[in-house]
Amino acid sequence: MNVILLGPPGAGKGTQAELLVKTHGLVQLSTGDMLRQAKASGSELGNRVAEVMERGELVTDDIVIGLIKEKLASSDAKGFIFDGFPRTLAQADALGGLLEEAGVTLSAAIELQVNDKILVKRILNRAEQAKAAGQPVRADDNEETLVQRLEAYHAQTAPLIDYYAGKGVLKPVDAMGEIDAIANELAAIVSEAGA
Ligand code: ADP
Repeated sequence: MNVILLGPPGAGKGTQAELLVKTHGLVQLSTGDMLRQAKASGSELGNRVAEVMERGELVTDDIVIGLIKEKLASSDAKGFIFDGFPRTLAQADALGGLLEEAGVTLSAAIELQVNDKILVKRILNRAEQAKAAGQPVRADDNEETLVQRLEAYHAQTAPLIDYYAGKGVLKPVDAMGEIDAIANELAAIVSEAGA
């Protein structure tokens, strides 16, 4: 059982992935979290990607594919939720190859659909709330970087929607409503897909 969560920044991929971890026992693999951890650890890799992330651009395919490969090799989970990966066609092909090698299939690519106006509002709210609660604000949660992140999404990641539709696994979900309602829809898709 392997599921991809596709969608623009602020679509709720992280929030929904965490809920699916709780309800379906899948393991969440978030390349964004992995890259932020690398940055926080001050590792050579972290230093290399920090500026790219802060500009809102995509980190190179080699780096993120390497991170995913490592995690897949070191886990014996019964299934994964890929959150924020793949983000380019090259990454999607690489993931297809890795899953094939492991003898498993991709059950669903769930597309969280949210329009750009709502995304900007959500992300700027997230930054405000973190600040108000005395928590650190993500370095890329500001209006300038967000415009770049949305551009990267439309140019490099949105083509994956057709890619997975062509493979017959695309499941579009309206992600503009309440978190719980969206979570219920996702749970139904995942259950139907066999988890
Ligand atoms: P969001 O989806 O809200 O933009 P993420 O936490 O998924 O946030 O990613 C944050 C940043 O990390 C991205 O803007 C990008 O620079 C980098 N990143 C994450 N995943 C990938 C990936 N699969 N390929 C390239 N860059 C990535």
